[in-house]
Amino acid sequence: MSSTSNIQVATLGFPRIGPKRELKAALESFWSGKSDAGALIATARTLRSDSWQRQASLGADLLPVGDFALYDQVLDTSVLLGVVPEGLDAYFATARGSRTQPAAEMTKWFDTNYHYIVPELSPEQNFALHPQGLLDALAAAEEAGVTPRPVVIGPVTYLLLAKSHTEGFDPIRLLDRLIPVYQQLFARLAEAGAEWVQIDEPALVLDLSDAARTAYRTAYAAFADAPVKLMLTSYFGALGDNTDLALSLPVAGLHVDLVRAPEQLDAVLAGARADLLLSLGVIDGRNIWRADLAAILNRIEPVVAARGSVVIAPSCSLLHSPIDLDRETEFDDELRSWLAFAVQKISELNILARALREGREAVAAELDAATAALDTRRRSPRIDRADVRARASDPDPALLRRGSEFAERQRAQRERLKLPAFPTTTIGSFPQTEQVRKARADHTAGRIDDAAYEQFLREETARTVAWQEKVGLDALVHGEFERNDMVQYFGEQLDGFAFTRHGWVQSYGSRCVRPPIIYGDVARPAPMTVEWWRYAQSLTAKPMKGMLTGPVTILNWSFVRNDQPRQRTCRQIAFAIRDEVLDLEAAGAPMIQIDEAALREGLPLRRSEWDAYLEWAVACFRIAASGVADTTQIHTHMCYSEFNDIIAAIGAMDADVISIETARSKMELLEAFRSHGYPAEIGPGVYDIHSPRVPAVEDMTELLELATKRLSPDQLWVNPDCGLKTRKWPEVEPAIVAMVEAARRLRETV
Ligand code: GLN
Ligand code: ZN
Repeated sequence: MSSTSNIQVATLGFPRIGPKRELKAALESFWSGKSDAGALIATARTLRSDSWQRQASLGADLLPVGDFALYDQVLDTSVLLGVVPEGLDAYFATARGSRTQPAAEMTKWFDTNYHYIVPELSPEQNFALHPQGLLDALAAAEEAGVTPRPVVIGPVTYLLLAKSHTEGFDPIRLLDRLIPVYQQLFARLAEAGAEWVQIDEPALVLDLSDAARTAYRTAYAAFADAPVKLMLTSYFGALGDNTDLALSLPVAGLHVDLVRAPEQLDAVLAGARADLLLSLGVIDGRNIWRADLAAILNRIEPVVAARGSVVIAPSCSLLHSPIDLDRETEFDDELRSWLAFAVQKISELNILARALREGREAVAAELDAATAALDTRRRSPRIDRADVRARASDPDPALLRRGSEFAERQRAQRERLKLPAFPTTTIGSFPQTEQVRKARADHTAGRIDDAAYEQFLREETARTVAWQEKVGLDALVHGEFERNDMVQYFGEQLDGFAFTRHGWVQSYGSRCVRPPIIYGDVARPAPMTVEWWRYAQSLTAKPMKGMLTGPVTILNWSFVRNDQPRQRTCRQIAFAIRDEVLDLEAAGAPMIQIDEAALREGLPLRRSEWDAYLEWAVACFRIAASGVADTTQIHTHMCYSEFNDIIAAIGAMDADVISIETARSKMELLEAFRSHGYPAEIGPGVYDIHSPRVPAVEDMTELLELATKRLSPDQLWVNPDCGLKTRKWPEVEPAIVAMVEAARRLRETV
């Protein structure tokens, strides 16, 4: 390598929740009043400086400063820009609501499972710089002896993520007011000693309007003489048709995601100014696989040779990775050798940097170890199952079709089920009470044995079935008490899945999830839910729904293997679920619900890729659902309320009944179903389960009457928006009683 080359390692951001979720504990303790603000701040500061020290000791050269949000980095930006007042009270009131203020809206951060607080901007919005938090962090980093690189969300991405309640007002129009605030910010950061600023503009990987493109040009032209160097940071995909735009902006550096979009390297190299510092996102910040370091070097050595200096980095912030693989002591050595969490990813970057600085010989052992791990992964019999591959590789199209069209199935099902008009049901789970959680924890810890746990679950189930019968629900559920989580429960019973003990990833605020790791071909060694269904059905003459999580949702809420296309993995899961569906049917289940809560979440960031995704996602659902007889009723459930742009795909799923979230949208989203001519049955949620409020009969009859204006009455089911697991029995009982009463009144009037 050239002796004049300068190679630096950046991390773009690090998980802030803490190795033992210390931030979660501190936040929740503060919120519940058990500890004060001082204690929260002290914990946060310690976590932040520990994480700098750790990143630096692993070999990171440029340490992110400002990525450590107490709740959310977008909310921090809103404070920085004067949109949300400074101070913990306003901060948490915005995030979580308070007695006087509803919580701000929260939505998915691009296509991750992280959720950010949506900035709300009015046409009169003024901005003002409140840099103290960032300056304090910068001072703390300097005190810690690391080289800080402040991270801020760029003005265009910030405005594109914002919303306004004023109809027709596009927040991007506020750009002119925002530019001077960023200019002041850069001046303050320069004064405080920052040389570089990482300015995150992930919106550069989206389809951009002309207004957004102009905004990029305007903003960055105005920053051209900023007293700091800007590292314009894109991630989560290819710059694509925004490549020329990004390369035309007068910034000192550009970060590109070469994991999601390795192919963009050539176009970026071809168009990049000689003095543009490239930051190469070569280590996957979104997944947990150990990297192929030799292959990465093959690609980036020529870049270093040609350009002299580069930054190497993860594809995106490490926020989306679990923290430390070394804590997973229960993994066998082989599995562990295939993985890398945030800490290990920084070590990988360090190995790459040393190879680039000193030559590959300097890290020969590390490179060999990475290659060897990859080889064992490629050849492992745990991963490659010929039987699974043969079945899922090229399924017979007949497997994707029900025996008859919907109308005929509907006749057969009505004949069999003899349900009243406006049949009532629930989405599946009933309250996961303190007791249920405790029993599960006791069982996991070995404090109670299998038999005692099983007995406890049977009693909960029996009580819940009896209660549903008593209040007059038409289609019953067993309550899902045996399930820890709608994906984990299935993953634990399928081959090809592994589960971490500590692999938490922030979902929002203090909430974290531990996504399963799908490492191998997926197969179902034995039925998963049939015994619980059989037991529940034995307690009642009413129809009991079988309850499954769909293949697309299992895929989208997991860390997915990177050695084959996502859809191939999804198809394998679909076949496993199909077998479960058929076993439930054989056991006598008259209705089977296949939840696809996360189908919409999997939509690609670029519109041009939607059709391909929806096609395979719908095909996977159909593989799972289509094996049953006409008389078996397939339900699906989706808990969101945007269907307009995917309604054709929803129709193509060909479920007999779909239940959806609608209580808060006043049934407006049924318009999508009406105008599409959606033929099948629909249960629009009439009870907002996200709220502790118990709805009155009248609230629900009103919603149902609105529904009958958009859909034919004989299409309608009556159910809550989603599962009831997060609610308490004293809320659920009166709400469901009222819901059944609403259906009864409707039957009399319509
Ligand atoms: N059947 C699941 C439940 O009721 C569905 C949950 C979901 O859609 N998120 O809990
Ligand atoms: Zn739901």
